[in-house]
Amino acid sequence: MPTYLNADLHCHSVVSDGTLTPEALAARAKANGVELWALTDHDEIGGQQRAAAAAQALGLAYLTGVEISVSFAGKTVHIVGLGFDAGDAQLQAGLLATRGGRSQRAMEMSEQLARVGIAHAYEGALKFVGNPELISRTHFARFLVECGVCRDTNEVFRKYLTEGKPGYVEHRWATLKDAVNWITQAGGIAVIAHPARYGFSANEEFALFSEFKAHGGRGVEVVTGSHSAAECLRYADTAREFGLAASRGSDFHSPEESRTDLGTLPLLTGGLTPVWELVHERIQSAAPH
Ligand code: AMP
Ligand code: MN
Ligand code: MN
Ligand code: MN
Repeated sequence: MPTYLNADLHCHSVVSDGTLTPEALAARAKANGVELWALTDHDEIGGQQRAAAAAQALGLAYLTGVEISVSFAGKTVHIVGLGFDAGDAQLQAGLLATRGGRSQRAMEMSEQLARVGIAHAYEGALKFVGNPELISRTHFARFLVECGVCRDTNEVFRKYLTEGKPGYVEHRWATLKDAVNWITQAGGIAVIAHPARYGFSANEEFALFSEFKAHGGRGVEVVTGSHSAAECLRYADTAREFGLAASRGSDFHSPEESRTDLGTLPLLTGGLTPVWELVHERIQSAAPH
């Protein structure tokens, strides 16, 4: 499989914090020229069957996907899993446990927001939730935009939902080791998502990549919706230094909110091993038509 494939291996549906159904995402990916697709909902694989079936009906090659929330060095890091067996019991149990604290966190967020004059944020966020186990900061952001507290979700995150801001509640997610193991033991590969987003120091980043490798992690997102051109180049170097394969994914959530649409990012450059080479036998091929 070539490096220059139009693969989009990172996006979200209503099963987590996206606004489109798995079927609508599959159709959008196909229309945008995507050749290999993965739906990677946060901490949840409940949309996988629908995504794979929709992809097959459209003649679109598919890899199973997930994006697991991990706590590392006091921050939240996201690990994408690709090409795993979605029926794997250990993976399912791990994801269930990872989702477990979300409702409690959401109620605490709501209490904190009430203290700065924003009432009933929990109930408000719930209106935007497609999956009751997966209430996320994104749903609060949509509610605060609806109320007119902020103009867009980016402003909500900046003013209310990030570290040090009034609606931010620290949360303990999965460990890096567990997340990598759940994915790997289910036959998939683990990939560090959007590494430029974490704001780690050089030492912290080195520790993340080293520990990830030691646990059996195989890839890193080089081309993603949240990387600048310079960051793509930088993480292409990091991939080569650590012997990791490279992934490409838009992190598309919503036509209204996402800057990067499915399948529209620059292609991976040569000299990198694309992640789809490592999981080519796990690709669910499109029906010939
Ligand atoms: P959670 O898993 O509940 O902590 O929510 C994390 C999600 O919030 C991410 O997956 C993004 O979809 C969204 N998010 C995080 N930071 C921002 C930001 N600055 N602007 C918009 N959305 C963000
Ligand atoms: Mn998200
Ligand atoms: Mn992420
Ligand atoms: Mn994502």
